Amino acid sequence: MRNQAQLIAYADRLAGDLPGVQRLLEGPLQGWFGGVHLLPFFDPIDGADAGFDPVDHQRVDARLGTWDDVERLGRAWPIMADLIVNHMSSRSPQFLDFLEHGEASEHAGLFLTLDGVFEHGATEALLTRLYRPRPGLPLTPVQLADRTKRVMWTTFTADQIDIDVRSPAGVAYLDAILDRFAEHHIEVVRLDAVGYAIKTPGTSSFMTEDTFAFIEGLTARAHARGIEVLVEVHSYWKRQVEIAERVDYVYDFALPPLVIHALFTGNAERLRRWFEIRPHNAVTVLDTHDGIGVIDVGPDTSDAHHLGLLSVEEIDELVEGIHEASHGTSRLATGAAASNVDLYQVNCTFYDALGADDDAYLIARLLQVWLPGVPQIYYVGLLTGHNDVELLHATGIGRDINRHRYHAEDLERALARPVVQRLGVLLRLRNRHPAFQGSWSLLEDGRDHGRLVMRWDADGEVAALDVDLRAKRYELTLTLDGTERTVTDLAQLRDV
Ligand code: BGC
Repeated sequence: MRNQAQLIAYADRLAGDLPGVQRLLEGPLQGWFGGVHLLPFFDPIDGADAGFDPVDHQRVDARLGTWDDVERLGRAWPIMADLIVNHMSSRSPQFLDFLEHGEASEHAGLFLTLDGVFEHGATEALLTRLYRPRPGLPLTPVQLADRTKRVMWTTFTADQIDIDVRSPAGVAYLDAILDRFAEHHIEVVRLDAVGYAIKTPGTSSFMTEDTFAFIEGLTARAHARGIEVLVEVHSYWKRQVEIAERVDYVYDFALPPLVIHALFTGNAERLRRWFEIRPHNAVTVLDTHDGIGVIDVGPDTSDAHHLGLLSVEEIDELVEGIHEASHGTSRLATGAAASNVDLYQVNCTFYDALGADDDAYLIARLLQVWLPGVPQIYYVGLLTGHNDVELLHATGIGRDINRHRYHAEDLERALARPVVQRLGVLLRLRNRHPAFQGSWSLLEDGRDHGRLVMRWDADGEVAALDVDLRAKRYELTLTLDGTERTVTDLAQLRDV
């Protein structure tokens, strides 16, 4: 992955289709990004989970374009694509065949059933040990053509049938997708929801040793095809640190809640502590197509003695603070208030989570961009989007509040906003300034609860950031054409 800012986008919701994304990157966003995470572009993009429930994971949804469009885009802006490892659509030809022929189907081995996992029988003790992103069991009864019933394993929605990823059919299924990706120049795969992929009776079946082994094996299969791997897991922060030691990249999902906490309280201490221990092979995000995770900063769900980066009270205040800042709109979309596959995420645009405060928002992005790791910017955040309550009401899906569909005019209006232009300046700086390829340090000088100072150094090149969380002010010190310059507004770097 290039060490430059990356865009995260649904091609249709940002720009209509794949060529539309390319036109944006070549046009108004020129220089802002060095790569793209293209959210699921497979067939269909509008199933039960916005593309995370593929009927055909190897086919590009024709409404977006073709594999040629993907490849053309990827040659200029290296693409990260989702490898949806855990499940496929209940409308996939493979599952329809299973419904028709049951165990006689050539695809029977591809799907996980209750009996398939618990060969010696499922007991209450075994079932209640399972870790889930929400209450309830990951099971859905289905009726086959001969009217017998089976209980399928469905971690997310009833329309997403879990795959037996270790069966010969499961291995072949994932390998074929990796082959297709390699053929079309995909550089990085995001292992979607991989923490749930391996079911081991008697355990939580979430990020167990067996899961690690599976991730290692799958990573080797991706590497053999020249593809890098980003592991997507929301979990206890120590587990993230452990995962990071064993893979190419992890997400820094603790960052968004900690940045919001620091900006709400004016106190940087929790954030500073994380900066000192967080893995550096991270993809940093403030927002994604999912909600803002709080599991990532909380205590260990399997042992409350393992403390979180924030206390339970601090998390409650944080969540309440986001609801207030968004004038209650995030409350409508979060937890049990809307249909949600993950109850432990707050659904809200990052801009609204900060009360649409431009200064706070730019400071959040500065902190993100200045940290070691590859910064990814979600398209709604890029455009400082507000919560889309209309879309939420239309679909009843909590996450839709942060998945706005842009049309040419509102895109143009958003791009013209001074805060968005300043963000563009920041991204261009991150992509071009040589200091960011050097070494990073978190400075202690002037240590005060409300300040954070970091700098990058490379062969005499410097990029330093000094943030005052309480005053919501920042100062950048940069070497530019051999001289050191200090600025207090990104707009002063517009022509650099
Ligand atoms: C994705 C979600 C999706 C889930 C199931 C997550 O990791 O980011 O958007 O709902 O996996 O595929």
